[in-house]
Amino acid sequence: MRAQPEASHYIHGAYANEAEGPEFNSVYPATGEVIARVRSARGDTVNAAVASAREGFQEWSATPAVERGRVLRRAAEILRDRNRELSELETLDTGKALQETLVSDPASAAECLEYFGSLIPTLTSEHIDLGGPFAYTRREPLGVCVGIGAWNYPIQIAGWKAAPALACGNAMVFKPSEVTPLSTLKLAEILIEAGLPKGVFNVVQGDGETGRLLVSHPEVAKVSLTGSVPTGEKVAALAGAGLKQTTLELGGKSPLIVFEDADLDEAVSGAMLANFYSTGQICSNGTRVFVHRSIRPQFIEKLVERTRKIVIGDPMDEASQMGPLVSKAQYDKVLNYMRLGQAEGAELVYGGEAAVVEGFADGWWVQPTIFADVADHMHIAREEIFGPVMCVLDFDSEDEVIARANATQFGLAAGLFTRDIARAHRVVAQLHAGTCWINTYNLTPVEMPFGGMKKSGIGRENGKAAIEHYSQVKGIYVETGKIDCPY
Ligand code: NAD
Repeated sequence: MRAQPEASHYIHGAYANEAEGPEFNSVYPATGEVIARVRSARGDTVNAAVASAREGFQEWSATPAVERGRVLRRAAEILRDRNRELSELETLDTGKALQETLVSDPASAAECLEYFGSLIPTLTSEHIDLGGPFAYTRREPLGVCVGIGAWNYPIQIAGWKAAPALACGNAMVFKPSEVTPLSTLKLAEILIEAGLPKGVFNVVQGDGETGRLLVSHPEVAKVSLTGSVPTGEKVAALAGAGLKQTTLELGGKSPLIVFEDADLDEAVSGAMLANFYSTGQICSNGTRVFVHRSIRPQFIEKLVERTRKIVIGDPMDEASQMGPLVSKAQYDKVLNYMRLGQAEGAELVYGGEAAVVEGFADGWWVQPTIFADVADHMHIAREEIFGPVMCVLDFDSEDEVIARANATQFGLAAGLFTRDIARAHRVVAQLHAGTCWINTYNLTPVEMPFGGMKKSGIGRENGKAAIEHYSQVKGIYVETGKIDCPY
């Protein structure tokens, strides 16, 4: 299986294969097979991408919003027309089941392009009456923005950053994760096909060093990163040194609270979606499942019964529900946490080891895993695992569970299941998390702002909120009389 792109980078409307920088492999996680080799961008390529974006920005920022919107909506349609091919590529690069990528990856990027492409021409500025003189505002783009992606949702992350950035009239240089370099190049091709001027969306491949060169580039006005908290801290420090704006979408260890009056089957569905989708590699996952002590035995029984039926297998087979983890490094990390949970004294009620999948002996497969009797202090309850490992914790009262849910450095997401609507809103208002769900989990429609509190991030993606993070407001005072001057 090969998915070799024409060249590593996509700059100024064409593939570009610069000679500098170390080469790295893109690997199909189900088999360990190398499917492509690409090269990390270094100084010359990064400079070329930023210079091209600067040029693209001049033209694009002067393009009327209605025309910008039209290009983005056209790109959304092309993504939809090519959904299967792009989803297969995403499955090859990430190992995620095709059953998922067909509905969650290119489709999500398309929705985002459609949403911001439709929203942007509707936005108007303010007129401020000053009793004679008046002021008005203009919402202006920032310039060249840098997007840096994680490996779990490569084309979705690129779409979530490119759509609001481009809608607002910015240009963007995007660096996908070095683990999943392929699909973002397709997004660049598609945007050009839709009519985007050259240079407005460039892709450079690379590792952390490439990211560092992009973030510190003096011509870059803004950085949007999706990644881990340690990377977020480095990027924020570097961007801060240049007084650049930042959006940071980082990690989490989110709570999901199941109250005693919850619909138990729905709550089990929610907990499974919150832990096992994308083989558990989702930033907003509700990995600390707090279950009211009175319903814990029934909850665990139903949960184990349904987890046993999850179909792990060939990611390209649409009947498969769970693929492998993305890389050997992630596999080792997740297996370590599975062992650590047992060593720390949590009760292993399901899974806990590597999975054996016939015909895929060299892939990075693990079993969906459930720990019960987890205590707040355990490593598995405090640290982001980023694999299909669910921790079930017992609780007795509402105040207690709110305090425990909030006792973390993270604040990305939270969810709760209850039939009591007053309690649902009372509790959700007290949870320190940027994105919350009542009686469901992990749904992220583009209309809703998404992002984290505390160490889980800065800024918001999606919804009208994203516009604030990709534009700046200019206030303009207009004198209509004589100037009152004492000199
Ligand atoms: P990571 O932090 O290792 O890497 C993220 C990106 O940052 C990669 O493209 C990497 O090359 C780049 N990078 C690394 N060091 C850099 C530096 N010094 N300067 C600039 N760029 C640098 O994260 P990952 O392992 O790719 O992804 C998993 C993490 O991402 C998890 O913590 C997960 O929670 C988080 N994530 C968050 C969201 C969200 O929306 N909040 C979504 C998906 C993933």
